[in-house]
Amino acid sequence: MNSQHFELLKGLVNPNYVQQAEQARNSRSKLITSLLTQRRLPDNGWPEADIQMLMEELASFDTNNFQGNVGVGEREGRVICDLVRRRHFGLTHGIGRSGDVMAEQPKAAGSSLIVQLTKYLALDAIRLAGIKAAKTCAVLPAATGLTMTLVFLALKQMRPQGRYVVWSRIDQKSCFKAIGAAGLKPIVVELKPIEGTDAIGTDVEGIRAAVEKVGAEEVLCICTTTSTFAPRVPDYIDEVAVVAQKLNVPHVINNAYGLQCSKCTHLIETGCRRGRVDAFVQSTDKNFLVPVGGAIVAAPGGQLVDKISALYPGRASMSPVLDLFITLLNLGASGWTGLLQERKENAKWFEERLTTVATKQGLRVLKVPANKISFCIDISSLGRPAGAEGQEDMDHLTFLGSALFTRRVSGPRVVLCSPAASAAGTSPAGAAGYPEKQTETATASEETASTEEVVKIKGKYRKMVDGTAFECYGAHTDAYPCCYLTAACALGATRLEMESFLERLESALQDYRQGAGRKDKGKDKVAK
Ligand SMILES: *Cc1c(COP(=O)(O)O)cnc(C)c1O
Repeated sequence: MNSQHFELLKGLVNPNYVQQAEQARNSRSKLITSLLTQRRLPDNGWPEADIQMLMEELASFDTNNFQGNVGVGEREGRVICDLVRRRHFGLTHGIGRSGDVMAEQPKAAGSSLIVQLTKYLALDAIRLAGIKAAKTCAVLPAATGLTMTLVFLALKQMRPQGRYVVWSRIDQKSCFKAIGAAGLKPIVVELKPIEGTDAIGTDVEGIRAAVEKVGAEEVLCICTTTSTFAPRVPDYIDEVAVVAQKLNVPHVINNAYGLQCSKCTHLIETGCRRGRVDAFVQSTDKNFLVPVGGAIVAAPGGQLVDKISALYPGRASMSPVLDLFITLLNLGASGWTGLLQERKENAKWFEERLTTVATKQGLRVLKVPANKISFCIDISSLGRPAGAEGQEDMDHLTFLGSALFTRRVSGPRVVLCSPAASAAGTSPAGAAGYPEKQTETATASEETASTEEVVKIKGKYRKMVDGTAFECYGAHTDAYPCCYLTAACALGATRLEMESFLERLESALQDYRQGAGRKDKGKDKVAK
């Protein structure tokens, strides 16, 4: 309703009431004014009702919602099921045009506005998280791995001679596969132990050597990662950025869930200021608690982000953009920074609690001070039962993962390793129940191993990912001195949840010690 309507209302309802109603309406409209002029997160989150009203108004700007609109194109935003239409607030045209996924869609002014606003809000959120150097970004309807592929493909257009991606090893399949999917060759740079800790970190000199070996012109980019499972720590983005600048090679950062951690954002900020960073990619779901489906590619400047948008063939789903838009409006700056602060405090608290529980169980939390999200406990001693007939059995440690899975704990991983030159290997937590275990595994002679042979080949655990063999896959390194269990204290996790995890961990450890899951004894003790 506009001011003329309110005047007319005064003839129907007590003018005092109408005046109050108009004031209420005006304060809503002030929120919109400041959103459109400042293009930043509102200081305080909007109530859902206000967001809903805005969504409905914006949807009415799209042609499919015009009164009396007649569509004679093959794509007119038609939706047959009303439940689906409502799920999308009637915003059914998607985003982009055939030539550019960030371009305005002529049939959808409302949707196009949301795309633009979301970009500004996301950029503000990235800066508030600590990367002030971020100057531009795009919210893409593809998750982190695929967005990394798009970044590589766009770089490839700008640097056609680049064939290699020099990649600091991280045992996460999607980011590695992103390289192959772009038709590029990975050069894996192994990590190094960090003295005085149990951590492993970037081999900066190894990265430089790898680039120099094939020649900088042939290197498409150096790829580093911030957020990662312990005992790996965030790559030394700041140092690698300096190397990238010296060698004149692009530098792309996988910041999958790094926005939630000031350690990671600080590294990127420093990298942007002191050296070369071409783009950094972060997941929308891991950082902003929306359903999986989107990623934000951001950069301290340059043309790369525009190149990526222009590379995208065709229109795309609006859902990931819309989810982020609504969430950022609802959080506001205070909600977002509050979440970050809460996670930081929770992680500190969790590490202390985990240490207490581990100590009580005669176990040790590994010393990985630079990883502020993921924590691990050395569980090797569980595989070495005391007593004369106690036989070392590290493989059985994967059962601990299954026991936690059975107790409805999702997310922890049991990683099996041993020191260099002896058996080494990994298996995801709850291997018994996880499909992961069935995935491809290398053998010297045959491609397909039976489930029994899946993890153990020639006394070593090895995994093929996209044609490359990794020793001790899961540990981020060919050899690590102990077997461990990881758990993360990520954004959105509550203390109640983490406390339950610790309780269930204790009881899983107890069962394990009593022989649960072993063929010979204690089979019936497996807790359900
Ligand atoms: C989650 C994650 C990915 C993959 O993300 P998708 O959104 O599933 O593509 C890649 N790298 C790291 C480090 C991750 O944590």
